Formats: sequence, structure tokens, C-alpha cells
Amino acid sequence: MSAVLERFLRYVRFDTQSDERSSRYPSTEGQLLLLRDLVEELRAIGLSDAALDEHGYLMATLPATTTKASVPTIGFIAHVDTSPEMSGADVVPIVHRQYDGRDLHLPHADGVALRLGDVPDLAEQMGHDIVTASGTTLLGADDKAGVAEIVTAAEYLIEHPEIAHGAIRLAFTPDEEIGRGTEYFDVDRFGARCAYTMDGGSLGEVEMESFSADAMTVTFQGFNTHPGYAKGRMVNAVKVAADFIQSLPLDRLSPETTDGREGFVHPYVLDASVERTSVKLLIRDFATSGLLDKERWLTALAGTVCGRHPGARFESRIVESYRNMREVLEQHPTVVEYACEAVRAAGLDVRSRSIRGGTDGSRLSFMGLPTPNLFAGEHNFHSRLEWVSVQDMEKAVEVIVQLARIWEARS
Ligand SMILES: [Zn+2]
Repeated sequence: MSAVLERFLRYVRFDTQSDERSSRYPSTEGQLLLLRDLVEELRAIGLSDAALDEHGYLMATLPATTTKASVPTIGFIAHVDTSPEMSGADVVPIVHRQYDGRDLHLPHADGVALRLGDVPDLAEQMGHDIVTASGTTLLGADDKAGVAEIVTAAEYLIEHPEIAHGAIRLAFTPDEEIGRGTEYFDVDRFGARCAYTMDGGSLGEVEMESFSADAMTVTFQGFNTHPGYAKGRMVNAVKVAADFIQSLPLDRLSPETTDGREGFVHPYVLDASVERTSVKLLIRDFATSGLLDKERWLTALAGTVCGRHPGARFESRIVESYRNMREVLEQHPTVVEYACEAVRAAGLDVRSRSIRGGTDGSRLSFMGLPTPNLFAGEHNFHSRLEWVSVQDMEKAVEVIVQLARIWEARS
């Protein structure tokens, strides 16, 4: 069995689901179990400084083999947690050998299968070995594929000291799926000039662009009084908020009506009472100026709606979530150039895609560590139909090795 597959099958058996309701860090104990196991594994393959810090960040160093003093330290990063939206407990991975276009049945869910007609990406996988879960859980390729690829590449480089490379730092992080993966990431201690998250989808993908994102809360203030004696006095904030949401367009500006480079506004949580009702919204755009336009428009809309409900008032609050990493990566063009070169050196075509979301790299880039995202082979993530191809994972290992080599050769 290939080394990357063997590792991947081992890692997915750890239940590392993160939990946004938890106040601990990492949010769940299961993540620490895998992280501790990884410390042992990294030490066993020769990364003697592998260690976990008090927040659950695992960092380790692959020492340089180059004789040049000018080669910068680069990093590779993957997250160990899986999505809170789907169970990751008792995952039973299934390797479907030699895919030939047949339906891939998930035996623990009646009639559930991956079908070529529904999953066009499978057309590229003829002859490959496809790993799925069994139908009741996610698989966890997001991002245990990335973890397995990084460890396997590190092992390969240790076994091949004739490949000249600079120092390479590895980090495995918790709580990415709940947006807290970089909360305690110590960029100085990591000590790399740039890094690559291995957390993307299809073969050859190099992602240097993410959404810019804010979280907005619009709170409507009404007036509550005994409903039997409320005539002319009560102002029902529930109805004001409903009017606000009803005023959002149905045919545009929402997650369900946009794709490609379009942004959206997305009401996703209501905290409602007659006296006071808050609407939480996600605001997304590839241009930070587009975010501000959307926020101004929502603020004006809330004002118009309050005008229709005499006595109602509103306030809004905006918290920055993350920014399009392109703003940083454009200032460090070699980081992406070398990634594209590594993908081509592995015999693949480069696919550039704009991430309709954020990665840890979006935040890390603005924390001083330019970090584009590379393919890990993940598909249908956060779903019980999640799958990954063994041959794509092997290609990702090759890309990591090529990147190490190219940074040395160009320095
Ligand atoms: Zn991920």
C-alpha cells in the first residue's frame, strides 16, 4: 500500500471534529489525540524537534540539506480537525480500487452512491483508487489528506538527502473549520518566509485568492408590552427584522444565487424577541471595497425598514473576519510562481481558482506569513459523499518535494 494512503487511513479513524460552542482551545479532545500521535510519528521518521505547544499547535523542522546559506525556510501547513457539520466519529474508510466509472456504493447508507453523472470530477479519475467513507460520516480528507501528504513528503526527503533543500517547517493546527485555526499561531516561532496550506481540491490547483469577509450583526430595537394592552404602543422587533430579511433580493446577492467571482450577503442566525431582534449576516466579496458597499447598502436598508415601523430603531456592528490573501501574495510573487512551477514539474497543469471562502492562509498571509493554498485532492468536503483519490494524494506529495527543490535551486 502506498505510504500516503496508509497514513491517511490511519488518521481518518481519529474523531477530530471541532466544536464552535466549546470555549476550550483546541475545542475538542479528539484533535489532541491525533496531534499527540503525529508528534510520535514525526519523531520516529527523524524530525526530532517535533512538539506540541500549550494550544495544540504541532510544529517540527526538517533540517536543510543544502550547502547554500541563501535558501529561505519555507513551511507546509494542514489542519487536523473536521467539520462540525457532519459526524467524523467511527469513520470506516473504503478504498474503491481501479475506478472505471461504476457507481461507488457507500454500504452503511441504503442506496447512497457516488455516481459519475452527479459528480463530474470523477471523470478525471479513471483507473485511480478512490477512498470514500461508508455513508454515515464524512471521510475527513479535509484536511487529513493534507496531513498525510506533508508527513509522507517529509519522510521522502529524509530518505533522500541527495535532494538539496533549505530548512522546512511543518505545522499541524486545530480548529480551522470553526474559524479559529490561527488564533494562537506564532508566526515568529514558525520562522518561515512563506508557507503553503495543503487543503485544496482538484489536481493541480494553486489558490492565491480568497474572499474578503466580515461578520455583521443588525439589531432591531422594538418595544415590548403586555399584548392585551399593546394597541398603539408595542413595536415588534421580530416583525421589523422579518421585513428587513424579506427586503433582501431573491434573485441575487445570496449564496444560493451566486458563484464565480460574485459576492453575497447571507443572514444565517436570528436571535428574536419582541423587544430586540438581532440578525447575523456573513458578508463576502473578493474586493474589500465590495464588502464596504454591501455593508453600506444593508445599513441603509435597515434604516428604510425602521421607517416603515414607527418607534423601531436599529444598530449595526461589523467585525472583520479575514481579507483576500491576494492583497499580500501579490507583494511576494515568487511564492505563487514557485508553486506553479512545482505543479508543472510534477507533470500537471496549473489550475488557479478563487476560493469562495477563507483558509487559514488568508489570515496567516495578513499575519506576515504569505500562504497560498495547494490541492490536497479533497472533494465533496463536509459531506458523507466526501472522497479523495490516492493518485491525487501521491501527486500532492510530489509537488511538496518539488517545491522544496525549487526554492533551493532558485535561491
Ligand atoms: Zn480544510
